[in-house]
Amino acid sequence: MELNLNGKVVLVTGGSRGIGSGICEAFVRENSKVYFIYKSNEVEANNTVNRIKEKYPESFIVAIRADVTKDIECKNIVNEINEKEGKIDILINNAGITNDGLLLMQTPEEWESVLKVSIGGTYNLIREVGMKMFYKRSGSIINISSVAGTMGVMGQTNYCTAKSAIIGLTRALSKEFGIKNIRVNAIAPGYIETDMTRNLKNLGALKKTIPLKRMGKVEEVANLVVFLASEASGYINGETIIIDGGLTS
Ligand code: NDP
Repeated sequence: MELNLNGKVVLVTGGSRGIGSGICEAFVRENSKVYFIYKSNEVEANNTVNRIKEKYPESFIVAIRADVTKDIECKNIVNEINEKEGKIDILINNAGITNDGLLLMQTPEEWESVLKVSIGGTYNLIREVGMKMFYKRSGSIINISSVAGTMGVMGQTNYCTAKSAIIGLTRALSKEFGIKNIRVNAIAPGYIETDMTRNLKNLGALKKTIPLKRMGKVEEVANLVVFLASEASGYINGETIIIDGGLTS
């Protein structure tokens, strides 16, 4: 199967750690040019760049510090990449946070923080990159949702709200963008081994509820992302692909 991602210009949000870092590596492996955004952890961002460059010495990977909730920062980054490369072929909206708590016990700021990154950040990047893709009449956008967007999780009303909104956004946008040959899809991972899930309570009991009896690996999600971004999945549009070891099957 040919992915034909050679020379494609890719922008990944939240690429310094976890799933995003794996996504960056998977695109580099396919000889794409990768730009990734991180918020503040410069050490982890440099670690990702160095790790990937060590493995793939010829690789093109650039870390950019920015906050996806700030529309002006997103606009500047997209303009800079576009000026340099003349295009952005693929956008991966991966940046996300959790801020758990029972709805009635949370401050409005705590509740909103998750929506600002997940929905606000995704919107900011789609607005800027989408315009460039419209001119080119081609592109592929992948939004990272979660199985929490397909079911309720106690203590995560903000996260479930954000992640189900991502699924709705993906569906509607696929209709607006499809007519310009831009595909928009989402991926809904289950429990994946990253910093976000490291301190989950009852991890042992939790794994027992997963038919495959283990958490997912970052590489497994990343492989799905590159497939979904590539021509190999050229007729998939507006879908949310669940990757959860059978958890929600
Ligand atoms: P991590 O916590 O490991 O990494 C989060 C990344 O997002 C970091 O690079 C972080 O940068 C960046 N980030 C956070 N906020 C911002 C912001 N405001 N602006 C720019 N970058 C930001 O997350 P995961 O890898 O675990 O998760 C990645 C995505 O996958 C998220 O959307 C998450 O909701 C989703 N997901 C994860 C699952 C899991 O089990 N891990 C399951 C289902 C979905 P910095 O380090 O500088 O803060």
